[in-house]
Amino acid sequence: MTSTYPNLLKPLDLGFTELKNRVLMGSMHTGLEDRFWNIHKFARYFAERAEGGVGLMVTGGYSPNLVGQLAPLSSTMNNRGTALLHRHVTGAVHEAGGKICLQLLHAGRYGYQPLIVSASATKAPISPFKARALSTKGVERQINDFVDAAKLAKFAGYDGVEVMGSEGYFINQFLCERTNKRTDKWGGPFENRMRLPVEIVRRMREAVGPEFIIIYRLSMLDLVEGGQTWDQVVTLGKAIEQAGATIINTGIGWHEARVPTIVTSVPRGGFADVTAKFYGEVAIPICTTNRINTPEKGEEILAAGKADMVSMARPLLADSEFVRKAEQGRSDEINTCIACNQACLDHVFQAKRASCLVNPRACHETELVLTVAPVARRVAVVGAGPAGLAAATTAAKRGHKVTLFDADDQIGGQFNYAKRIPGKEEFYETLRYFQRQIELLQIDLKLNTRVDSKALVGQGFDDVIIATGVKPRTPKIDGIDHPKVLGYLDVLRHNKPVGKTVAVIGAGGIGFDVSEFLTHDFGQHPEGEQISVADWQAEWGVNPTFEGPGGLAEREPTPSPRKIYLMQRKTGKVGGGLGKTSGWVHRNSLKHRDVEMLKGCRYDRIDDQGLHITLTDKNGKAQESRVLAVDNVIICAGQESFRELYDQLSESGVKAHLIGGADLAEELDAKRAIRQGTEVAAAI
Ligand code: FAD
Ligand code: NAP
Ligand code: SF4
Repeated sequence: MTSTYPNLLKPLDLGFTELKNRVLMGSMHTGLEDRFWNIHKFARYFAERAEGGVGLMVTGGYSPNLVGQLAPLSSTMNNRGTALLHRHVTGAVHEAGGKICLQLLHAGRYGYQPLIVSASATKAPISPFKARALSTKGVERQINDFVDAAKLAKFAGYDGVEVMGSEGYFINQFLCERTNKRTDKWGGPFENRMRLPVEIVRRMREAVGPEFIIIYRLSMLDLVEGGQTWDQVVTLGKAIEQAGATIINTGIGWHEARVPTIVTSVPRGGFADVTAKFYGEVAIPICTTNRINTPEKGEEILAAGKADMVSMARPLLADSEFVRKAEQGRSDEINTCIACNQACLDHVFQAKRASCLVNPRACHETELVLTVAPVARRVAVVGAGPAGLAAATTAAKRGHKVTLFDADDQIGGQFNYAKRIPGKEEFYETLRYFQRQIELLQIDLKLNTRVDSKALVGQGFDDVIIATGVKPRTPKIDGIDHPKVLGYLDVLRHNKPVGKTVAVIGAGGIGFDVSEFLTHDFGQHPEGEQISVADWQAEWGVNPTFEGPGGLAEREPTPSPRKIYLMQRKTGKVGGGLGKTSGWVHRNSLKHRDVEMLKGCRYDRIDDQGLHITLTDKNGKAQESRVLAVDNVIICAGQESFRELYDQLSESGVKAHLIGGADLAEELDAKRAIRQGTEVAAAI
């Protein structure tokens, strides 16, 4: 069979078993791991992905013991009862023709619980607890627990395990001097510091026999000061091969690193060259990872000889049929992960079950079930923003006859402005996905059509879904009508000229995005194109040779064509409401472009001189008055629901479903809009 992705879809012979292709679904904690009563949901989640054709999957991390837990009561593999329960998962995956490994993750000092242990008594910046230093015997106990957990995984029916040796967790903490200050045989020179992972893999292999996959996740680039050097990475990788690993997977960056590794502004395949540099050092298969979200990118990397396998984690949350669609030449139908982290990682960090912004069924496969409708109804959806698109496509998938209206000349609603922000180019993919679904599902799309109640009443629609979105809020500020005041739509939709000095009012997601947009020079880097890996490395301080401790380099300046002030009234951290795993990247990026962030702002007036503000303390007491002599003031002060149509329909006695921003503007994001659109259409 000829294929568009011959390298990606080629089987991989591991000697004792064969993987049907080169796609590894990388480990992701989903929250389903932590509670035994979710085991059937967990099984269905993996079974759908196995049915979708993934070569090999890895579960979220399971601690081999209590001290290694990520949080109290979180996922652990330390007894036969738990292992027996996991046979539901392995059975479902095997029945679907898939293969699955259990990840063994000892959190070390990253644990969010008081029992944590590490190489030395240190405290991670991302945990409130200080780790206790292990005794020499204590280290032996951890190794035994890893080995026992691997035996339990085998008993549970797993095809193998992945030993988590990267991302700054327990094993990584032994490897680096910054966290390993020991003087016994587990500390000191690198030969001693690397003894822990090598012993884990060696003793594990002895215990599980030759026909069991052991993936070792090797930290190839620590991205922290005092991290491993390249020579040390290679030395460890070779020793891990000798110790009996089947596959080496790539690990990039400690969680406390101040270099982003997976957010959407990291260019696609941004770390594949790290794996490429390692490739050839060992004979066993090597897997690359991070920000690979399309079959094209995976194929390109493998064809260039940079790795043997490609790990994709979030892209398989976004679309369980990713591999099947690639095999069938339907990659334009893939629901692409946009690397926003909003429903996956951000949820996990808030102890909520993971899902996916573009696919709300992810991790809810047994709950959000899309059945074929008993009777095909005529459904009108007004508004083709994320909410309306989700509703229209879900209803049509279920067999309803859908007409989708939008006043604009293109689908997407506000996503058309989001996609213009440098670093958010992935948002184009969501629009491509929905456009293709509209064609495939034969939805009657009516663009350039502003709908009023007359267009709907008496037109034979059985159901009407209103997804008319939001309109920007205009704050009450003296001088708000001054010609130098613009709204974010003036900038991102109408391309109005913006001066060299700018005040942005409102530091929510949109204020940050507008500031990012205005600090870029599109002459150097065309809009809509992702930044090159080399430019991104220079901006974030990644050494392009990956040499030196942690692979870090001096950051190069990124001058902005404009002076920007970004302001909020709250006195807390500017942009404190941004995503948990991405907010720091946005703040850091703007600081690097010399954006001045001001909190506790009272906006006194706008006039020819500029914006007059008073800075207040947390009790609202005035501290300082300033005049920002700006050319433009850009309003990004949140939004209000746009629901005139819904109100008109209600007056005409038509009961419509109200979704997305039209329903509730407060704390609206695309995650809620898409989920609500899907849920409403799933119930019609
Ligand atoms: P909208 O997207 O506002 O869509 C409403 C649609 O209805 C529009 O297309 C409009 O033309 C149409 N319409 C209105 N009235 C009528 C009518 N009478 N007849 C026909 N059509 C009509 N969210 C995130 O989750 N993550 C992000 O990173 C993110 N980044 C953003 C960046 C920017 C710059 C902006 C502006 C927004 C961003 N958002 C982000 C917010 C996200 O885009 C919105 O939450 C989402 O678009 C709301 O979806 P919606 O379908 O409810 O409304
Ligand atoms: P937002 O996050 O609610 O932010 C609105 C900002 O305006 C806040 O900084 C608020 O801060 C300020 N504000 C509110 N009322 C004001 C008033 N009357 N006068 C002056 N300032 C006022 O909304 P948004 O930025 O418009 O974003 C809309 C939604 O899109 C958000 O919910 C967000 O989740 C989503 N989004 C997400 C991302 C992302 O990267 N994840 C990016 C863009 C948008 P103060 O009250 O402190 O002044
Ligand atoms: Fe990808 Fe965002 Fe979905 Fe996470 S929530 S899988 S980052 S699209």
